[in-house]
Amino acid sequence: MNAEIIAVGSELLLGQIVNTNARFLSRQLADLGINVFYHTCVGDNPDRLKAVIKMAEERSNLLIFTGGLGPTKDDLTKETIAKHVNKKLIMNNEALQSIELYFERTNRQMTENNKKQAIVLEDSHILPNDHGMAPGMLLDGGNHTYMLLPGPPKEMEPMFLKYGYPALRSLLLEEDVILSRVLRFFGIGEAMLETEIEDLIDAQTNPTIAPLASDGEVTLRLTAKHEQMDTALRLLDETENNILSRIGEYFYGYDETSLMRELIKHIKEKKLTIACAESLTGGMFQQEFTAIPGAGDLLKGGVVCYTNEVKTNVLNVQKSTIAENGVVSEQCARELAKNVASLMNADIGISFTGVAGPDELEGKPVGTVYIGISIKNEPVQVEKLNFGGTREAIRVRSVKYGCHFLIK
Ligand code: ATP
Ligand code: MG
Repeated sequence: MNAEIIAVGSELLLGQIVNTNARFLSRQLADLGINVFYHTCVGDNPDRLKAVIKMAEERSNLLIFTGGLGPTKDDLTKETIAKHVNKKLIMNNEALQSIELYFERTNRQMTENNKKQAIVLEDSHILPNDHGMAPGMLLDGGNHTYMLLPGPPKEMEPMFLKYGYPALRSLLLEEDVILSRVLRFFGIGEAMLETEIEDLIDAQTNPTIAPLASDGEVTLRLTAKHEQMDTALRLLDETENNILSRIGEYFYGYDETSLMRELIKHIKEKKLTIACAESLTGGMFQQEFTAIPGAGDLLKGGVVCYTNEVKTNVLNVQKSTIAENGVVSEQCARELAKNVASLMNADIGISFTGVAGPDELEGKPVGTVYIGISIKNEPVQVEKLNFGGTREAIRVRSVKYGCHFLIK
């Protein structure tokens, strides 16, 4: 099999963006053992795109298109290909549903032309878009295979890795399509999780369900195999629904995400800001928060309030609060969360105070942690936790629980 990558978009020809999609796909195809003989780039013009398709068909048998799947008038890729291969364009209900869900999740108003993105080539397999709206497509046209992918790299790359790559692999090897999906859980132990779904794990052969635990998190990798891509996807969806109907309250995300990433998404969607008072975590929460690109403007700032002096002088914790309850206390966590939010003028204040060890503090055992959460003018919530493990593990888990409580 040899491939041609066709990037559609006038921005590319105008030099406004670099064709990173071609580089990414070439590397992936090399990994699959598929030769890429040509990279082509064409503007948003149906006649020229048609000419490019004709030329590509003479010299390549796999044609991969990126770009032009969006809702606007200049997005012409699927219309042009449909005409060329003589296929109808039909509304795909699953794609439409996932577009509607996307708008609901991001709190945006859906317009009529967004529906256009759910229109797909008849007889094609859908490549779901987990990071945007326009689904990709894979069409077996006899002599040629056509793959249509969206333009934005942050949609195209994960779509190709998750769905495009396995589909091509199965085409090449004439084997079933293998699709995987990872479900991530927090706040439930591995043993408990496995007990809840033991019968499912035992009974399932397709998809298989593989649990994995690390750092206080449990993941389940679902792997489905089927000759038809769409059926493999449906098998994954059914098993996922089954699992989530039992332990959905502990589920927080798919695949390569993390609690911090989900928290940031959550804060962004709700248009909130956050500030942080960190005693036992010593800045760890803020370090992790700011390590994620684009998160900066959501975090107003924070205070590493390791000493009592800083807790009282900078964060205005009452001296009497500390004298009566100690710093490892619900009362102290409450004042820290509330006061850091008002000091930094943030919507959310979160605080961490506790005993990371190795020695106990104020007569409280190692692993005692209080997390305070103040959201706008609601009463401050304080969660008390008792961790085992090393100093490092206690600090890491405190940060994770902080994210977990804020997402809930
Ligand atoms: P959208 O729904 O966002 O309109 P689309 O599939 O219609 O997606 P285009 O409109 O062609 O895609 O491109 C959208 C954006 O994606 C471009 O402005 C550019 O930022 C990026 N993009 C498109 N093609 C490429 C490419 N070949 N390499 C890198 N980035 C690209
Ligand atoms: Mg577009």
